[in-house]
Amino acid sequence: MKKYAIAIHAGAETLKPGELDKKKEEAYRQGLADALKEGYDVLGKGGSALDAVEAAVNSMERNPMFNAGRGASLTQRGETEFDAAIMDGNTLRVGAVGGVRYVQHPISLAKVILQKCKHCLLVGTGAEEFALANNLPLKGPEYFVTPEKREAWLDKQQEKAGKKAMPGSMTDTVGAVALDINGNLAAATSTGGLTNQMKGRVGDTPIIGGGTFANNEVCAVSCTGEGEAIMRGVLAHEVYAMMKYADNSLQSATEKAIQLHADKLKGDRGILSMDTTGKAAFGFNTGFMKRGYQAADEEPFVALWESEKLKKPAKLKEMEK
Ligand code: ASP
Repeated sequence: MKKYAIAIHAGAETLKPGELDKKKEEAYRQGLADALKEGYDVLGKGGSALDAVEAAVNSMERNPMFNAGRGASLTQRGETEFDAAIMDGNTLRVGAVGGVRYVQHPISLAKVILQKCKHCLLVGTGAEEFALANNLPLKGPEYFVTPEKREAWLDKQQEKAGKKAMPGSMTDTVGAVALDINGNLAAATSTGGLTNQMKGRVGDTPIIGGGTFANNEVCAVSCTGEGEAIMRGVLAHEVYAMMKYADNSLQSATEKAIQLHADKLKGDRGILSMDTTGKAAFGFNTGFMKRGYQAADEEPFVALWESEKLKKPAKLKEMEK
């Protein structure tokens, strides 16, 4: 049997059990299960890792619970702005977008850039014109801005005016990594950025090697958390480098990247990675990371809290023998 696997995340943030509303917890788990299934089904039909990570991320971009596409966080101006990137570990081709506002599925625009554009990264209106020229669906603010995010934005304005104290901001960037039956790896990440970020701010997500990276020789990686720290630490590429040049296992490279330069680069970090055997590793310093994993013919695994551990799928173990 050919091996294939997919793993996803929908952001990491500092949170303890009991601090999350039960209904929200359920909705997160359902959203993760839905996205995992979309990606897994593509792989099960013999589809490519690139198509699988796009399908999983599209599902989370549609889901207003997550900070990507519909339901994304708002900037200081009360608007949504999206960053996304996708990388093909086979060809090392990349497509990325920064600061787009009207594209329904930023990750699909990134994929069209990867496939058709001589450049890797397009931003703002240039990226939107490219989306239009390639018949990708565009939407207005009424589609992207949900009442919950509008309320969080209003709270933030009151907090700034000293009228209200805000709880920690929700940062639910989404991402996926996959291995297909042909041994190809891919990574994809999509985000609405940080709550209340400056207009025009671009995070780590579309910075290749920062928030997103894939190379068939070693691994595929998608990051979440404080974008400024992640891009300064070049964390996605560090996972690759620690495996390639320092012989680290996937798990140890992912865990080390979570701690890297922690004295200088503060903030929440979450890293999802997958190696050439389809094993996945989840690293985070937050106690909470929305995540999921499914390998060929195995049951799906969905988790939120640190205490929920991923067991190595039995069939994957057998395949390695
Ligand atoms: N990394 C994203 C950014 O800084 C945010 C997140 O992952 O929550 O734009």
